[in-house]
Amino acid sequence: MHCPFCAAVDTKVIDSRLVSDGHQVRRRRECLDCNERFTTFESAELVMPRIVKRDGSREPFNEDKMRNGLLRALEKRPVSVEQVELAINKLKSQLRATGEREVSSEMLGSLIMSQLKNLDKVAYLRFASVYLSFEDIREFAEEIARLGEEKANGQ
Ligand SMILES: [Zn+2]
Repeated sequence: MHCPFCAAVDTKVIDSRLVSDGHQVRRRRECLDCNERFTTFESAELVMPRIVKRDGSREPFNEDKMRNGLLRALEKRPVSVEQVELAINKLKSQLRATGEREVSSEMLGSLIMSQLKNLDKVAYLRFASVYLSFEDIREFAEEIARLGEEKANGQ
């Protein structure tokens, strides 16, 4: 891989380790010319289903968009980047496991919500309040009441 600093052709791998539960390889590289160091992440590229939006239009699955949605919900919450990446990997596995070429944005949203529910209840509520439509609001209110009960029961 070329050096991103001086574009030299030769860079050397100085460290290589598995991250994100073995779904990624993180490599530290060093340029043989300018001695700058940088990091690369390598992961398998697998075909993801397309997302069917509420209005019927289709769009390619966008991992960055999903990550941004998660990070927005998790802003200032005590959840590590590593936990977020693990959740993203789980979500991608779940999407591929459907074996479908297309999945609805509602389904994607509920998968994301179940991951957030495990990670952080505040983030879960934030995401749900943005994501859910008005028809879902009553169920959501019941959900909040239930979470409140769990908390009261010390869970
Ligand atoms: Zn260089």
